[in-house]
Amino acid sequence: MADTMVRTARYRLCPSAVQAETMAQFAGVCRLVYNIALEQRRDWYRQFKIATGKNISFYSQAKELKDLRASVDWIGAAPHCAQVQALWDLDDAFQRFFRGKNGYPSPRRKGENDSFRIPGKEFHSPIRNLPNTRYAEVRLPKLGWCKFRLSRPLPIDRKLIEATVVLDALGWHICLVFRVSSVATAKLDGHIGIDRGVANTLSLSDGTFASQPVARLDALARRSKTHQKRLSRQKRGSNRSAMTRRMLAKTRAKIARVRKHWNHEQSTRIAAGFGTVVMEALKTGTMTRSAKGTIEAPGVNVRQKAGLNRSILEHGWHQFERLLAYKLDAAGGRLIRVDPAYTSQTCSACGSIAKTHRKSQAVFECSDCGHAAHADTNAALNILRAGEQPASRGAVRPSVKREPSEERPQ
Ligand SMILES: [Zn+2]
Repeated sequence: MADTMVRTARYRLCPSAVQAETMAQFAGVCRLVYNIALEQRRDWYRQFKIATGKNISFYSQAKELKDLRASVDWIGAAPHCAQVQALWDLDDAFQRFFRGKNGYPSPRRKGENDSFRIPGKEFHSPIRNLPNTRYAEVRLPKLGWCKFRLSRPLPIDRKLIEATVVLDALGWHICLVFRVSSVATAKLDGHIGIDRGVANTLSLSDGTFASQPVARLDALARRSKTHQKRLSRQKRGSNRSAMTRRMLAKTRAKIARVRKHWNHEQSTRIAAGFGTVVMEALKTGTMTRSAKGTIEAPGVNVRQKAGLNRSILEHGWHQFERLLAYKLDAAGGRLIRVDPAYTSQTCSACGSIAKTHRKSQAVFECSDCGHAAHADTNAALNILRAGEQPASRGAVRPSVKREPSEERPQ
């Protein structure tokens, strides 16, 4: 268990009109710096090698950035540190590419990569709460004090590592990355198995269930469909279609926010209550492509597969697992992933395995010993048991201590 860990928190910024405009400029300049640097690496690396005998690197590019800032006013007007971060990002993207972890880096695009990152050492004043309000302020280089909504409290014992200012369909946000001291809070003796499903998002081996806010998500999904239909009727490139596109993006962002909030809630609850959590090692990637294996879908046809894929993605299982993994790690607990084979066909009472034990989506009834239970609870118990047998253990502890930050474009 680590003494300190990295936490990210995302807040909605409330910039003034001038600040918002300046933020857009800064994001644009950082994108430009990234794209110019990418072009240089892509098209000029041979000439560079011939001229200097060296490869283009982060350092050579950082040096050239200085000249660029001196000669172009509006590039010089944006914070230097944020542009250096863009160069780091590019270097990172190339390192990953060389190691075979990524494709060749692609240019950043307006409307997709509207962000800039400020390293922690640039923050000279601490974040301050605005008394008697639900707001706080952070001082950003060349932007001054910027208000943001405290939708959740700031960590008390915190050290700001970096901040990313990002524009999405719902407006400007700030993603603060802190180093905080972690406290072991888990009841380390608690064991639980979790079955992830479509009817019940989470089924726990203690017989409880947790489902996503289905009504809210359905309403948003319907709204998103309406926008999509309207968009298909509208003339491409027209003002009206641009407006619908914005509304569609906004609705999709809301869906993602609702789902992430729920995943956060549930993963916090489970990580605080149990020291050992066992889940199936689901390969959502392969399952989405072939719909084969882990979920019994009799006579898989294309339509069914499309529906199944959608609900798998909608449930955001991967996100839940990521969040749970880092929270367990922070609390000193552990996540065990097991082979999902037969977990839904095995009787948790006598161990007999047969497809016919499962009478319906919800009902499990063993033909051998007569044990009856909710099918998902039965599966969760099998998963828990599989995790307790050392031989079948998969990846035991998450190695990543960092909360995955989606704000960081690669
Ligand atoms: Zn049985």
